[in-house]
Amino acid sequence: MTNPDSRPDASQASDCPARPDRPVLERISARVSTLGQGMTIRRVLPSRQRRMIGAWCFFDHAGPLAYEAGHGIAVGPHPHTGLQTFSWMIEGRMRHTDSLGNEAWIEPGQVNLMSAGHGIAHAEESDPDRPGRVQLAQLWIALPDEVRDDEPFFINYPELPVIEHDGFVMTVLVGDHDKVTSPVEVFTPLVALDLVADSESRTSMVLEPKFEYGLMVLEGRATVQDESFEPGELAYLGQNRSAIEVQADAGSRLLLIGGEPFAEDILLWWNFVARTPDEIEQAVRDWQDGRRFGNVDAARTPPLNVPSLDGVRLKAHGKR
Ligand code: MN
Repeated sequence: MTNPDSRPDASQASDCPARPDRPVLERISARVSTLGQGMTIRRVLPSRQRRMIGAWCFFDHAGPLAYEAGHGIAVGPHPHTGLQTFSWMIEGRMRHTDSLGNEAWIEPGQVNLMSAGHGIAHAEESDPDRPGRVQLAQLWIALPDEVRDDEPFFINYPELPVIEHDGFVMTVLVGDHDKVTSPVEVFTPLVALDLVADSESRTSMVLEPKFEYGLMVLEGRATVQDESFEPGELAYLGQNRSAIEVQADAGSRLLLIGGEPFAEDILLWWNFVARTPDEIEQAVRDWQDGRRFGNVDAARTPPLNVPSLDGVRLKAHGKR
């Protein structure tokens, strides 16, 4: 997907020193916007309180939306650099096309991973001829210095490992959980788990103390440390936890993400992750001039224009 918010730094770091005696629990409420076709987007990263969780630097929950034929989702070709886009399809199907010539439908229960490296362009479009539904989570993963200029690649993962435990169906999307490992290829220590509870359920989940975590409610309701969280809310759990008790109402879907705090200060603007304003400006020129990112020949929708950098003050941000 694409980031319609080109504000350089809509949020500022807040001082929340971690107290070793008491794990952090912060409530992050999504900024809600509507994509052209009426699809609700709830964005919890980056947010005012927190810029990243591990290398996760962007987190949108899109939909659910039911649409008529001819009114699906169509995000035209746009560039990415310095990041991986990670798409978890919950309902409906969308077609990915990119400037490497890949063309793949992503179906419910599948992950699309696109590693932009130095640069790639892609489009994401639903089937224009049929009515349908769509719901997905799209997250971006900042690439560390040693691989952020590498060649781009795209992988569709048709199946992810599933664990059933304490009433939860847990899909291991990224990293390891309970000795089960996701095949999704990432470059820093990360985890992502999709949790579905058909009936009211409670479990204690083992966590990695070196990781920081966030638990997002996609549907239903979750309770953590006696605090209740609803769709559009992410519970930031901080670091230094070896386990967490999670209770979910019947019909809930949660997404747990985590990772080792990212060691580098990144600059995120539009669909680019970089380190310096010069790198962002170069990426903007390269897209405008048709260099570096390539063309998405198989897309049905016209390419997106990069927003203007006029008057924008680009500033790097750290882990928060
Ligand atoms: Mn995109």
